[in-house]
Amino acid sequence: MAKVESFELDHTKVLAPYVRLITVEEGPKGDKISNFDLRLVQPNQDAIPTGGLHTIEHLLASLLRDRMDGVIDCSPFGCRTGFHLITWGEHSTTEVAKALKGSLEAIANDITWADVPGTTIESCGNYKDHSLFSAKEWSKLILSQGISVDPFDRSVLA
Ligand SMILES: [Zn+2]
Repeated sequence: MAKVESFELDHTKVLAPYVRLITVEEGPKGDKISNFDLRLVQPNQDAIPTGGLHTIEHLLASLLRDRMDGVIDCSPFGCRTGFHLITWGEHSTTEVAKALKGSLEAIANDITWADVPGTTIESCGNYKDHSLFSAKEWSKLILSQGISVDPFDRSVLA
């Protein structure tokens, strides 16, 4: 089976919350695509419940695009400890962490239910499994711990 970088990472060595660059892939015409690990909670110690994670996913889809260029996709890990962020081009972990921090601040402080995109039976695959309350509480907790731009050494954004 193909080796996948994400499974080579020692999940006992990281210190969440953090942003980590996983890979930069170059296509045949030289276009670059980056893959980031947005780790919101500590692996094997915590996991965001699906309702909150699902609502954070819908909100990050818009909020990250408002705060940085090149966003292709942001999707939750099956372990529910964070998200993959796929982007066009190269970005520093500081740029990504700033966009993530601003997005979580918006969720914690400003977002109302009417702002959450895709919460109807037509626009979501499991529209009954959303929790803005959970999304807000987890966002506050993550922000209180600070988002590091390094996965192994705590280097938290001001
Ligand atoms: Zn959905």
